[in-house]
Amino acid sequence: MIELDYKIMHNCVFTNVKLKKIGRSDSDLCDVCHKENEDIMHVFINCDELEDFHDYLSALVCKIFENCDSDKINLVQSEMLLLNGLRWKMKGVNDLFLNFVLSVARFCIFRRRHLLKNGHKNVHLTKLFQYTLKHYVTYFYVYLCKQNNKSNVFEKNFLKDNPIVQETDDVLVFDL
Ligand SMILES: [Zn+2]
Repeated sequence: MIELDYKIMHNCVFTNVKLKKIGRSDSDLCDVCHKENEDIMHVFINCDELEDFHDYLSALVCKIFENCDSDKINLVQSEMLLLNGLRWKMKGVNDLFLNFVLSVARFCIFRRRHLLKNGHKNVHLTKLFQYTLKHYVTYFYVYLCKQNNKSNVFEKNFLKDNPIVQETDDVLVFDL
């Protein structure tokens, strides 16, 4: 995920447009919708096949902003938020968790594209995202709280000001 984030930030994701330019692909069309050229904006933002997932993600992000106590909320544009993450602190919002969610979202969008490109059929992006997010949050929960006694780090990164992940009786509860 960190590697993908780095590539997006430096615009060096190997999209089909780039692959065709360097002679590594015959087609620059998107492998998911097969309708438009696949550049980086298409992969993450403009592809028709992302519509349902974007709607789902916007609703989820709204939940994360539920207790936001800042007028900067008007500056948050969902498209740029998905690509760049939240670059400033907002009162009542766990920006660490929000950026983690967005990173998982980008990773899953790219993962689905990879799976379809390699012959898989019917990859459900929202389900892939929910599964992946739960998997990583649970991984950090076990690693930080159960194995390394760093509950404070987990609390700060994943639980503080977070309406969608809570811990009850030593069990994580997700509202995804
Ligand atoms: Zn597409």
